[in-house]
Amino acid sequence: MGKPTGFMEFTRSLPGKRPVEERIKDYNEFVNRYSDQQLNQQASRCMNCGVPFCHNGCPLGNVIPEFNDAVYRKNWEEAYSILSSTNNFPEFTGRICPAPCETACVLGINQPAITIEEIEKHIIEIAFEKGLVKARKPNLRTGKKVAVIGSGPAGLAAAAQLNYAGHSVTVYERDEKPGGLLRYGIPDFKLEKWVVERRVSLMEEEGVVFKCHANVGGNVKVNDLLREYQAIVLAGGSTVPRTLNIPGHDLKGVYPAMQFLKQQNKRNYQSDPLAFGDIESNIHHEAILANGKHVVVIGGGDTGSDCVGTSNRQGAASITQLELLPKPPEGRTPYMPWPTYPMTLKTSTSHEEGCGREWAVATKEFVGDANGQLKALRIVELQWTSSSDGRPAQFAEVPGSEREIPCELALLAMGFLHPQKEGLLAELGVELDERGNVKATEKQYQTNIPKVFTAGDMRRGQSLVVWAISEGRECARKVDEYLLGQSVLETKDAMLSLAI
Ligand code: FAD
Repeated sequence: MGKPTGFMEFTRSLPGKRPVEERIKDYNEFVNRYSDQQLNQQASRCMNCGVPFCHNGCPLGNVIPEFNDAVYRKNWEEAYSILSSTNNFPEFTGRICPAPCETACVLGINQPAITIEEIEKHIIEIAFEKGLVKARKPNLRTGKKVAVIGSGPAGLAAAAQLNYAGHSVTVYERDEKPGGLLRYGIPDFKLEKWVVERRVSLMEEEGVVFKCHANVGGNVKVNDLLREYQAIVLAGGSTVPRTLNIPGHDLKGVYPAMQFLKQQNKRNYQSDPLAFGDIESNIHHEAILANGKHVVVIGGGDTGSDCVGTSNRQGAASITQLELLPKPPEGRTPYMPWPTYPMTLKTSTSHEEGCGREWAVATKEFVGDANGQLKALRIVELQWTSSSDGRPAQFAEVPGSEREIPCELALLAMGFLHPQKEGLLAELGVELDERGNVKATEKQYQTNIPKVFTAGDMRRGQSLVVWAISEGRECARKVDEYLLGQSVLETKDAMLSLAI
């Protein structure tokens, strides 16, 4: 710990942001950087606790007090070395992680937590600027070939780790460019795409081969991969969206959120927003735009919030976000004590930019006009009762509360059910779990098919970037052990025991 009194002298402060009226005119990131002094002060707030709960809060086991200390001492080489020992892509998590480490920060018991996520972003960006991030090529090649299917954070992390272990790795991606949801889901205003490209270029320099427009189970045959590679990692994500089968669901103007977000992400890099290829089912081949429309986003999570930010930038006439659950409390309750991740009210930067939010409402009908175009939603208010642990348990419609709200564009952001089964998974005949995800344990990552492993949302179900990276790393270790009988790759458990 650099400064024993830091947490008493300084309070939590976040870097400034571009003003709302300016930032909604473009899709660029809008969070500024700390000054050197601010960064130093924020890092000095870390208490280097005897038992640092932040380690456990982080799915990667990031060694947080140690890198905070190095930042305080301005030892960038050390800070970068500690951070990159557990996290392949801090430039992603430093921008878009919901930071479960911060909710586990001991200071959070009675003061605002350390700004761990921001510190992480500063370490990696400073490391890039100072030329500390270099391509890490393996000294020796093992002669083993591994195929990774899917180039989201899980596939990228698995590929990077397996390449470090000396295996020859090829990543197959059905989309136009690598990145998965980092590129096509998360909007540029949260994660500019040069950040993804910078990392992919580095991995190419390290020896990883990327093959795009390569849909395994479609234009790339599963059996060819099984013949060519000694191991395969399935990291295809959880791509089938939850739908709302109520009257009017097939009207023009009702779309899954991902199609809307993906189109805008493509527009941002001048790619054809409608060119989805033949790879995803139920794709709408028309431009989905919010300009001038009353937009309703159904679903109160991250994806919904990204739709709000994108709709504001496209010039929507109004935006309303609907959530089935009741409004969460603003702070922790006895039922969500520190250091658990609390289900409290989240006001994202997209919410700050303007949108109406309604809780405890259900959509009963999409109402259309004579031309089959959506013109309104019929919604109803819900009365929730809680279970003994304080969680919302059951709901009933409030009699007489039905009403219509104007809506020409409804975006369904209610989460994802499971991976797409047709194509890759069906051809492999891989076993699925009761939720429809690829079955493999969190310890072994091995599917029922010999030499086929899985990681990320495809195994875990819809989750977070930080979990996808963690799964990719842990899965890579299992693949390495399978190929060589032992592994030199770090594991989360090994890093945590070293840190303590
Ligand atoms: P994905 O990122 O989904 O990548 C899977 C890849 O596999 C895709 O590129 C897909 O094209 C490819 N693929 C699938 N099948 C095949 C095949 N047969 N052949 C070849 N390629 C194939 N998490 C956060 O932590 N913070 C956020 O702010 C956040 N925002 C989000 C916003 C949105 C709109 C969405 C949808 C999710 C968000 N998430 C966020 C969740 C996070 O993006 C995912 O948990 C994470 O990307 C999962 O990583 P993955 O590698 O498992 O899968």
